[in-house]
Amino acid sequence: MKFSRVVLVDMDDVVAGFYTEAYKRIQKLDKNINAHKKSSSYFFEEEYPKYTQEIRDIFHSVGFFANLPIIKGSLEGWQKLLDNGYDPVFCSSPLLTSPYCIEEKKQWIKENFVPLFGQSVLDRAILTRHKHREKGIALIDDKPEIYNSESAQWMHILFESEFNLDSDNTHRISGWNDDRLLGYLEIARENYINNHGGNEL
Ligand SMILES: [Mg+2]
Repeated sequence: MKFSRVVLVDMDDVVAGFYTEAYKRIQKLDKNINAHKKSSSYFFEEEYPKYTQEIRDIFHSVGFFANLPIIKGSLEGWQKLLDNGYDPVFCSSPLLTSPYCIEEKKQWIKENFVPLFGQSVLDRAILTRHKHREKGIALIDDKPEIYNSESAQWMHILFESEFNLDSDNTHRISGWNDDRLLGYLEIARENYINNHGGNEL
């Protein structure tokens, strides 16, 4: 494996519909919650403080992470990375306060990606709170600010979502079929190689 080909791919709201599912369940608490509200707030608890506990309970419930809907175009996007010589690897931050999250994220990969791309997708998946330590040319992630990203080797490509539109990251894609993706990856690969003394590590 060459790290100069590795593209790290976040899960929640990049391939797995965390936001969609969470909103669907949160709306059951109160129909007045506006599912289409645009917000710069990353956490639902901040947006709806009245329901802090109930919202936490949803994220911590059995089956929440295992049953997230797959985001449209994800499988095709993964295939596009492979077709263009890249090596996609999942890199996702588990919710450590949930006793189910890690196992269910693995289950989700097994059900949604392994049938098409093989067991190695699951075996190589990285579940970490420290994405900045992982090697790769790029990280495709919807989170506007990644912890310690300034020390990371990868370039952050923002996967757009309703709540991150005000991010000032200029490397952004609106979805898996966004044509800008391959251009960003070329830049990311070039940067990575230059930062490693011109070697294709
Ligand atoms: Mg995410």
